[in-house]
Amino acid sequence: MNQDFDVNSAARNWRVDASVSATPSELVNELFASDVLTLDQLKARLSKPDYRSLQATLERGETLDSSIADTVALAMKTWAMEKGATHYTHWFQPLTGSTAEKHDSFLNPAGDGVAIMSFSGKELIQAEPDASSFPSGGLRATFEARGYTAWDPSSPAFIVRHANGATLCIPSVFLSWTGEALDLKIPLLRSIEALNKAVTPALSLFGASEGTRISSTLGAEQEYFLIAEEYYYRRPDLVMTGRTLFGAKPPRGQELEDHYFGAIPDRVLSFMTDAEMQLYALGIPVKTRHNEVAPGQFEIAPIFENSNIAADHQQLIMQVLRTTARKYGLVCLMHEKPFAGVNGSGKHCNWSMGTDAGENLLDPGETPHRNMQFLFFCTAVIKAVDDHQDLLRACVASASNDHRLGANEAPPAIISIFLGSELTDIFDRLASGKGGRGPEAGLLGLGSSVLPEIPVHAGDRNRTSPFAFTGNKFEFRAVGSSQSISFPITVLNLIIADAITQLTAQLNEKLKGSDATLDSAVAELVKETYTQYKRIIFNGDGYSEAWHEEAEHQRGLLNLRTTLDAIEHLNSEKNLRLFEQYNVLNERELGARQEIMYDIYFKTVNIEGETTEYMAQTQILPAAITYLAELGNVEIKSKAVKGVTEELVEIADELYENLRTLREQNEALGGEEIHEKAHHMRDHVLPAMQEVRRAADRLEKVVSSKHWPLPTYRQMLFVK
Ligand code: ADP
Ligand code: MG
Repeated sequence: MNQDFDVNSAARNWRVDASVSATPSELVNELFASDVLTLDQLKARLSKPDYRSLQATLERGETLDSSIADTVALAMKTWAMEKGATHYTHWFQPLTGSTAEKHDSFLNPAGDGVAIMSFSGKELIQAEPDASSFPSGGLRATFEARGYTAWDPSSPAFIVRHANGATLCIPSVFLSWTGEALDLKIPLLRSIEALNKAVTPALSLFGASEGTRISSTLGAEQEYFLIAEEYYYRRPDLVMTGRTLFGAKPPRGQELEDHYFGAIPDRVLSFMTDAEMQLYALGIPVKTRHNEVAPGQFEIAPIFENSNIAADHQQLIMQVLRTTARKYGLVCLMHEKPFAGVNGSGKHCNWSMGTDAGENLLDPGETPHRNMQFLFFCTAVIKAVDDHQDLLRACVASASNDHRLGANEAPPAIISIFLGSELTDIFDRLASGKGGRGPEAGLLGLGSSVLPEIPVHAGDRNRTSPFAFTGNKFEFRAVGSSQSISFPITVLNLIIADAITQLTAQLNEKLKGSDATLDSAVAELVKETYTQYKRIIFNGDGYSEAWHEEAEHQRGLLNLRTTLDAIEHLNSEKNLRLFEQYNVLNERELGARQEIMYDIYFKTVNIEGETTEYMAQTQILPAAITYLAELGNVEIKSKAVKGVTEELVEIADELYENLRTLREQNEALGGEEIHEKAHHMRDHVLPAMQEVRRAADRLEKVVSSKHWPLPTYRQMLFVK
């Protein structure tokens, strides 16, 4: 049985369906958002009073007048049917981290062989999927297992197409009958509101006009791998766990640095273009595509949007990439670390806050006054990140992201901020009372000792920092490639809302009854706060040993290495108070999320442990034994035959021993309770898997490739 896995056919077996090829470029702008039910579309289809009522709901969060719900539903249905939809679904984000949908047809029998297509206001506003199987972390006892989905009018409805039709998707939230959030979207919406409430009083101190609304903005860069599906389905580990549990390092990895930003292979480019056209139709402004560092690794990034929409769109990007890859004989791997020894994948979340008039609050301005405002908000971010390092680490914690964080290619598990030398210099000057005068570092004196001018797009590149200022936004780089960005954005919004609230109170305190100007009061506040929090700023190499030492021992920063270390902090006293104070999650809701994180961690590693055992026992060990038997049949016991036999016996026995240990650990489970089981996985199953892999990877280099049962790294990473 020669198992060289059809390298040629893997490289060739992609097929492009004529119907998806080439959208003429002049039509691309018309294609944009053509499958989105925009406000303009609704306006054209509703009477003026009905539209106004809907607008009030959208803009001021007023409840939708139930008498117009039917009219809106009718307009939606008509639009969707014109687009070819036969079904509709409430589209929501349960605590699994992916999206959920349950389709219902518009079709209803009307007697005597007649059917009508209908969709009522009630069906639009609320649905009750039998969703008792979603994780709820104990929020729903079985007797009240029902949860329901409710239309979120702040995110527009859209059409999802498949080969034989289309579905109207209605973005929704998912909650229990007791009103508790069972999804990732409700806390996100609440955190956006919390941020708005926190920023408004601060902005009005800086003279913003009344009624200015602010929201966080988000642009997420998605990294992913593509491999030929020929190989994917021959790797039980990829199919079961999303990552390779075995695989010797190939002679060539990413050391030649020839893949990054290299020419994109034709097959991949065809796939990307196809995916992008679908994303354009969904109104998702994808902008950038390129090869990433590891062979077979790529990136796609949209232009930033309001963070609620960005979170929905991010889910759709992942979905479209996954489904489209298959059309090209490829599989899209979103796992944080599909291959050992080469870079893993992240999802950099570029975060800022902006007003509804389009002003970016983290953009240093042209005028000194704007710069004081900028420094105020920037200081708030610094304070927030230091106060809540634990939450930032916890919100990106997962079994898969553990392989990436701190693996010397991704930011470390220690949370710190990269500010860049120019901005750091400005803060240092403010803190030391030197103000903004001086010819160095591009600073200009501006006639006042406290008003620095900040170079636009200060901040340079430092890929080793988990949280970097990049000119007019912060980039949170610890987020994992496969995870939903909803919870990380929720945490960012929340912690920064908290810091702004506190700093605004302090600022008001300074202004009260004194004749200090706003500028000098802000300068003083920035100085004090920066001095207090500057330990969180680190512009050096985040991968270095020296940093880990310094961060932990001299600066006292948290180093929460694994998921379990991090999620322990999730519902500490401090965090519980924080989530409650801003009405983002109550104690039960937060506890439920922690419980689910433990549960998912346990299950993920448990599946990996069992898959490792299964593959080693039924594929790898038999390959070694078969080859041994073959060697045994060789008549002439040459030096080579004896040498290979000995080596093989030694490694195969080691594999066998390690496998026995793993089997024991897989069976043990470590206890009854989910926390015990999760710790057992981390402390016993993962190390035992490592040992099995070590022996198996050695075997891969000794066993005849004719007998090797798995596609190798060499094949998976390089055959395109
Ligand atoms: P990189 O050099 O890290 O690849 P880019 O300059 O291409 O970064 O931008 C990365 C992301 O940052 C993009 O999605 C971009 O739209 C987003 N971004 C730019 N400005 C903002 C902002 N004000 N708020 C949020 N995201 C932003
Ligand atoms: Mg980036």
